[in-house]
Amino acid sequence: MKTYADLKLPVRTLLGAGPSDVDPRVLRVMATPVIGFFDPEFLAIMDETMELTRFVFQTENEFTFTLPATGTGGMETALANMIEPGDRMVVCVNGFFGARMTEMVKRLKGELVTVEAPWGQVVDPADVERALKGGKTRVVAIVHAETSTGILQPLEEIARLAKEHGALLLVDAVTSLGGVEVNVDKRGIDICYSGSQKCLGAPPGMSLITLNSRAQKALASRKTEVHSWYLDLGLIQRYWAKERFYHHTAPASLIYAMRESLRLVYEEGLEARFARHELNSTALKAGLEAMGLKLFAEAGHRNPTLTTIAVPDGVNDANMRGKLLKEYNIEISGGLGQLKGKIWRIGLMGNSSKKRNVIDVLAALEGALRSEGLKAPSGAGIAAAEQAYKG
Ligand SMILES: *Cc1c(COP(=O)(O)O)cnc(C)c1O
Repeated sequence: MKTYADLKLPVRTLLGAGPSDVDPRVLRVMATPVIGFFDPEFLAIMDETMELTRFVFQTENEFTFTLPATGTGGMETALANMIEPGDRMVVCVNGFFGARMTEMVKRLKGELVTVEAPWGQVVDPADVERALKGGKTRVVAIVHAETSTGILQPLEEIARLAKEHGALLLVDAVTSLGGVEVNVDKRGIDICYSGSQKCLGAPPGMSLITLNSRAQKALASRKTEVHSWYLDLGLIQRYWAKERFYHHTAPASLIYAMRESLRLVYEEGLEARFARHELNSTALKAGLEAMGLKLFAEAGHRNPTLTTIAVPDGVNDANMRGKLLKEYNIEISGGLGQLKGKIWRIGLMGNSSKKRNVIDVLAALEGALRSEGLKAPSGAGIAAAEQAYKG
């Protein structure tokens, strides 16, 4: 079997739906020695990671830490802890990840009420209100940035409605946290989770979660135990809290990486980071449209961390993406679920959100489209992007 050196894994430019490019500083800390999970040095690292996690969620919530699970693990943890069998739960579905939540709620034997919107559009708060009026609801769940469609969902009105009806608001911020404002405290989000490998720029394998006092109270007053021992937040919290109760062996190398990528976020500053994501996304979108491509997500609600494009008629989706990867070393993503083969998804997340990548992907798309027989006006995409950078 080949060694990793012999494999010569390419350094790709990751512009898909995640993972995003990992900063070399983050990769390097993963080679830091592994130490025991009760080692005082490691406990200090955990405390600092918690502090930085609060910073990025913009919350004072004590109950804020990382989980040894991918984003989906964060989703399952949030749902499993917040509902009990028979609890009424309103799940907003306008894409693949909202739909994934409904699958989990069914397995948890919750009473599932879905509020649907077409994929590529936002969920209408009036529909959420109608669902809330239908019965006493425990939780309203919604995806902030629906990675399958490129929509960024406004949360304020839905947060207000949830509170008014005595329901907890659970938000998936996997593709938004660290790229656009989530602001858990200001928005009144009760439970929020995210993932390491999207706008935070860490390797995949971790999720981050925060619960406010309302959510914590709901957790403490459960009548039944959380069905999963491993995902039981009450138990996990006892490890992160001063008690240091052994729950699982902390994935030290991933926590080092998470802490380092959060340090990078802290050094940059949230406002500057959001502005960077916004600017690069604006330039990308201008370039794509100048090339004659059609953006897929509803105008006015396009996500600055992930852009979706309708695959032009007569162009083979898989060929195009294959060409970008093989000839240009750039990864972009195809559609998921009902959008498979119909859209492309270009992520500009975390470290991947930079001008060079915007220019490179526009040039690569133009080249690949031309070889597919499509006549993109030469250089128009890059010129429009440059113009957007000039403001
Ligand atoms: C990527 C993603 C997830 C799942 O994260 P994994 O790390 O792939 O398990 C969940 N929700 C959203 C919105 C995502 O974009």
